[in-house]
Amino acid sequence: MPFFRDIIGQNRSIGILQSFLRNDAVPPSLLFSGEKGIGKRQVAEIFAEAVLCQGSKAPSQTAAKPGVLIEPCNTCLACRKLKDLNHPGLSIIEPDGKTIKIDQIRQMQSKIVIKPFDGPKTIVLIDQADRMNEAAANSLLKTLEEPPPYAILILIASRASSLPPTLLSRCQLVPFHPLSLSQVISILIEKKGWAMSEARLVAALANGNLSEAFSLEVETAREMDEARYQLISSGDLFSTAEKFSKNIEIFEAALVYLFTWFRDVLVIKSFSGTAQADPSNLVYSWRYKALKGWADSMRSDEISSFLADLQAVRRAQIRNVNRRLSLETLLLKLHTKRKASS
Ligand SMILES: [Zn+2]
Repeated sequence: MPFFRDIIGQNRSIGILQSFLRNDAVPPSLLFSGEKGIGKRQVAEIFAEAVLCQGSKAPSQTAAKPGVLIEPCNTCLACRKLKDLNHPGLSIIEPDGKTIKIDQIRQMQSKIVIKPFDGPKTIVLIDQADRMNEAAANSLLKTLEEPPPYAILILIASRASSLPPTLLSRCQLVPFHPLSLSQVISILIEKKGWAMSEARLVAALANGNLSEAFSLEVETAREMDEARYQLISSGDLFSTAEKFSKNIEIFEAALVYLFTWFRDVLVIKSFSGTAQADPSNLVYSWRYKALKGWADSMRSDEISSFLADLQAVRRAQIRNVNRRLSLETLLLKLHTKRKASS
């Protein structure tokens, strides 16, 4: 199990959790909120371990010095049981299929009324809590309203705003912030031993999502980059639109690619010909020449208007728009603009 000190880029959320541990005052329900793949689940597990740890250096037995992180000992019986996910004081709830169902919440409720016999607390971790169906959320609300004094509930959500407000208002928010591209790049260089150019490529293709970046191979990222670049370079709009609207994941990735591409174009544009844009400010820096070509052939207001169109399609996508048609329309607009200016 890693420690708090191994987590990069989440100093603020870890700081909040440390103050709970230091003051021995953990709120009964917490909400870890933030994008996917930035370490919420991992931090939740370390926090659970720190609360349940019974080692001689356990937080409850030593007041750590200010500035020194309170960590689980990783060696006591409680920590070892947690490592094997075999500690009766920790329950983990995850979606069963697409949603978290009321039966899962009821099962947990019948468990937490029993006072813990080998630890100070009972911890319930609800991962992807934003995927609770309505019945499950209503049922959980009862526990949040009157939690047993020894219980700590940790809800983890990437779309916290979709949780019912009644539920949100019961939880202490612990916000997790997205990592910057340069943070993801330096983590990849350090942990994977990659060269700057490789780390930059993978980080960009994973859209700064650390867990996705970790599971990507450099070669796969190169292939993804070549394939997505067709969105920009291919003259055959119709087959490109068809290819990138096959399913919702491919479609979403295409929209994100276009969005990031034209944000880069706008960055270059803002350097108005005199100074050269610093490539480290660009996500797709290895495509500088092509990006510059677009910057030279579009006005800033045209780029902004295209970015707005992209946003509109992203929002409409929730209402099941015709993916192929909307992508075709976007690409057509783009290529017409380009032709008109060249
Ligand atoms: Zn321990």
